[in-house]
Amino acid sequence: MKKCDYCAKEITYFEQYCCDECQRKTLNFYDYQAKYSKLFAGINIVCLFAIPIGLFLFSFMSSVGLTMIAFAVEALGLTIIIFPFPVENMISSMKLKKAINVTRIIGAALAAVGILLIILDFIFYI
Ligand SMILES: [Zn+2]
Repeated sequence: MKKCDYCAKEITYFEQYCCDECQRKTLNFYDYQAKYSKLFAGINIVCLFAIPIGLFLFSFMSSVGLTMIAFAVEALGLTIIIFPFPVENMISSMKLKKAINVTRIIGAALAAVGILLIILDFIFYI
């Protein structure tokens, strides 16, 4: 059976979406992604560079290193929650709605780890 591109509900072979609502949500998502994908990629690159630099600094300036890692992980998590852009194979395997939800959960998990690291940073170094 063919499935709705947004919600994965079963549909006939002549359709792409189960309803207008799913089509509208899909178009909105791709508009939103087109608008913010560069910003999202930019923040990701900064965060992903900051984490290894933080790890390197951690070996001789542990407070600075941990602070840097904590804020990079937190920023990455929050960015993913605000801009939940799943990778292409996630969208094709679980359809858009679920792919967005799973991406948001990953972002929330990262944000939680970030908060934990920030708390650790406060406990150990202040
Ligand atoms: Zn649908």
